[in-house]
Amino acid sequence: MHSLYQNTRFLTGATSLKGMPEDTGREVAFAGRSNAGKSSALNRICHQKSLARTSKTPGRTQQINFFQVADGRYLVDLPGYGFARVPGGLQREWGAFIGRYLQHRRSLVGLIVLMDIRRPLTSLDEQLLDLCAQACIPVHILLTKADKLSRSASLAALRELKKQLQARGYSASAQCFSATRGTGLEEVQELLDRWLEAESA
Ligand code: GDP
Repeated sequence: MHSLYQNTRFLTGATSLKGMPEDTGREVAFAGRSNAGKSSALNRICHQKSLARTSKTPGRTQQINFFQVADGRYLVDLPGYGFARVPGGLQREWGAFIGRYLQHRRSLVGLIVLMDIRRPLTSLDEQLLDLCAQACIPVHILLTKADKLSRSASLAALRELKKQLQARGYSASAQCFSATRGTGLEEVQELLDRWLEAESA
């Protein structure tokens, strides 16, 4: 078993760049529409039941949460976007805060973007990919809840996503993922190891 992420623990939540841990380590951030399965993915990757809380009240948590994997190595939970009940102003604030984080955080080595395999690449997802391209941040996409589709339908969805990414000029990589079944778990953990330059135990 891949045990590096097992001892991950919540470090701090920040609502401004100033409130973040010292910008000297390596970190990978997770982002996605609300309900895309981000908390479930983080919990599964870290073999923990409630590291990141699932199914929070939409729009309540507008902070960036830092989880420490090892010394100077972090996984970062960005607030979900695309809540129907969140007014436009808050959406703009989200974009501005996340934009500043992506632009200025030197420790940030990559972004994992989560998209429901049945509804990938919405216009908000594309806005996030644009922010990452502007900030030169590598992106890896998890097509979540892959267990909701047959294996062949999942692979077809992945192929279609890759085609769309290429057509729109995005260089992101992508894979299928299921927090429920553990599909794609090793693949994403290996990528995190590389990005964080972390040794698995
Ligand atoms: P978040 O808002 O992005 O953090 O999403 P959550 O992790 O809270 O998940 C949203 C909903 O999708 C919850 O009801 C989860 O139980 C469900 N969910 C998350 N991951 C999976 C998965 O891999 N398979 C299935 N079938 N449901 C999932």
